[in-house]
Parts: sequence; structure tokens; C-alpha cells
Amino acid sequence: MTHLTLQAVTKRFHTAYAVDHVDLAVPDGKLVCFLGPSGCGKTTLLRIIAGLETATSGTVAFAGRDLTRVPANQRDFGMVFQSLALFPHMTVAQNIAYPLRLRRVAKDAQAARVAELLELIQLPHMADRPISRLSGGQRQRVAIARAIASSPKLLLLDEPLSALDAKLREAMQVEIRLLQQRLGITTIMVTHDQREAMTMADEIVVMEKGRIAQVGKPLDIYRNPVSEFVADFIGLGNILPVTLDGTDRIALPGGQQILVDAVQRATGTTGTTGTTGDVRLLIRPEDVSMRAVMGNPGPNVLAGKVAFIRDVGSSLEATIECAGFTLTAATTPRETPDLRVGMPIFAELPPHACKLIAARTAH
Ligand code: ATP
Repeated sequence: MTHLTLQAVTKRFHTAYAVDHVDLAVPDGKLVCFLGPSGCGKTTLLRIIAGLETATSGTVAFAGRDLTRVPANQRDFGMVFQSLALFPHMTVAQNIAYPLRLRRVAKDAQAARVAELLELIQLPHMADRPISRLSGGQRQRVAIARAIASSPKLLLLDEPLSALDAKLREAMQVEIRLLQQRLGITTIMVTHDQREAMTMADEIVVMEKGRIAQVGKPLDIYRNPVSEFVADFIGLGNILPVTLDGTDRIALPGGQQILVDAVQRATGTTGTTGTTGDVRLLIRPEDVSMRAVMGNPGPNVLAGKVAFIRDVGSSLEATIECAGFTLTAATTPRETPDLRVGMPIFAELPPHACKLIAARTAH
């Protein structure tokens, strides 16, 4: 069942389009991430859904009801902002109870709900602590408890983890996701961090200049991006300009020819957006395999030299200089213990992992 539906939602500030004809259906109980670079319209779109911003045109409907002109305080959505906006002079319990107080929920029902939420966010002993004496992660949990206190049907999160350091941020991503799944609450989260979106989302909405560039499950988008913009934004990738000549091969920047699967050639000749244009080869680093000797000289084996190694213990990335371009290959230190900077190497690009995508258009 689809709960939230956006139809042709557009927001213009003066002459500039912050959000440009966005159509979207958010399924019930799912966590959807709006992902994209700074200024692509994520926050504006979230604010329109929240009712904090009025769309220039288009409609927002929830559970079949048109909300386009309904003010924020009548939408019944929970929201957590980047700043968290907790009340510093109040205790944890008072903060969590705040939306219940506004709704004039009876005092004992408020207390029971607050106790339940404190258990849920694993801060049962902190009810009377002032906000100023909480850590960043604890504040984060209180902000979420406050947002869900009155059991909203939709939870909106605007970069809620951006103030946290990297380690805590990763832990909170898992915590929020598990909580969201336990409660089954439909959630939309804005982030510009693709790893965060991949960790948490059922579906990612990739935005580019106010428009939706692609919507899909995280791994589908990662494996089958529709454009260079999306490929580049989601995960690490080798993106190389290539030339097609109508045969079963494509030419790399150095002139070397490699085989790609027929379906990929078809995509490349029509362009993924349906028009003939410049084409790029996308191959993810984990799909590039390295070997020290040529071995079986397949058509997709390229000679190169190891230019740099980023070994962080759990994973290893090697930059390989080939004639006319560089490639990144990802592996683990355990798999490639003998890799050294400067050594000659052979990189294999399996045909099935070579994707052809439309090149980014000039703006
Ligand atoms: P960030 O990740 O930096 O928060 P974002 O993707 O959330 O960016 P928005 O904040 O939605 O982007 O902004 C989209 C565009 O609309 C930007 O070009 C921004 O400058 C513009 N914009 C946003 N709010 C206003 C406003 N109140 N008045 C004029 N322009 C605005």
C-alpha cells in the first residue's frame, strides 16, 4: 500500500526551481532516503511534505487525503531536524512529553508513554537529566523519541546524524534503522551521505537539480545506475569514456579494446536515456580483479602498474595505471598480500561487470 504520494511537486524560489516536477510514491512502513549533493532540493522537498514549505504547484497526499494546503501542525507527522531543536532548559522526559502536552494528553498517560519511549531508546534512567548533560548520541535518541511520541504515521528526518562523529554516526544509523523496522513507521530521511543511505534505506531517491535522477533499492541503483551522475554519486566507481564502433568491442581511452555483453552494447548504442550520446564504461572496483601474471590472456585483461595502495586493514584499494587511464580495484589485504606499489599488474574487467551508461550532459 502506498501512503505518501507526490504528484508533479514543484517549488520555485523566484526564477530558480528548487524542486522540479517530482512524482513519488512512498510505500507503507518503508524507510526512503532522499540522497543527492548540496542544493539538489532534498530539504525543500522534505519541508513540502512536512507542510513547512508550500509547493508552487503539485499535490501531496497521504493515505488518500490531499494534504497540499493542510498546515504542518495538522499533518500529524514527526520530524527530526539537523539541529535536533531539543529544548535545552527541559529534562529528557519533558522534551519527550512535549508533543503529548501540546495535545493535552492526560498526565498519567504522558508519563506512561515517556517511560515506554525511554525504554525504547535505551535511556530508562535518564528521564530527569537536563539535555545539556547528554552526549550527542543520547540527544539524537531523545529527538527521535520526541518525534515519535504521539505515534505519527510518518517520520521525517533531515540529516539527523550530520553533527555526530563518524563512529557514532555509523552506530546510530543501525540503531535508527532497527527502531524504524521494529515500529514499522514509514520514514523519509534526507542525507547527502551515500553510505548512510545504502545502510538504512529500503529505497533511495537520488536527486539532481530538483529532479529525481533515479529511484530504487540501494543495490539495484548501485549495480544499475541510469546515468553517470548516479553512478558517480553512489559508491566508488571507475567511469571511463569509451568509443563504440558497432562491433562486439568497445575502445578504452588508451585505444585498448575490450568485450562487453550484448545487452550492454545495446544500451550503449542507444544511450541509457534513449538518445544517442557520449557513453561511459562503469566498472565497480570490487569487480576489477588483479593478478601478477598474465595467465590466461583473455580479451579483457589489461596490463598496468600499481600506483597507490590504500590498505585500511579490512579492505584494500589499489590504483592501477594503465595506458591512457587509471583504474581502482578493491580487494582485501588477505587476498592480495604481495601487492606492492610500482609492481606490474594485470587487471581483468569481466564482461558482465562492464556497464555502459549515458555520459553526464553539459549544463
Ligand atoms: P543541502 O544538502 O545543502 O541542505 P539540499 O539538497 O537540501 O541541500 P535545498 O536546501 O532544498 O537543497 O535547496 C535547493 C535549492 O533551493 C538551493 O539552490 C537553495 O539555494 C534554494 N533555496 C532553498 N531555500 C530557499 C529559500 N528560502 N529562498 C531561496 N532559495 C532557496
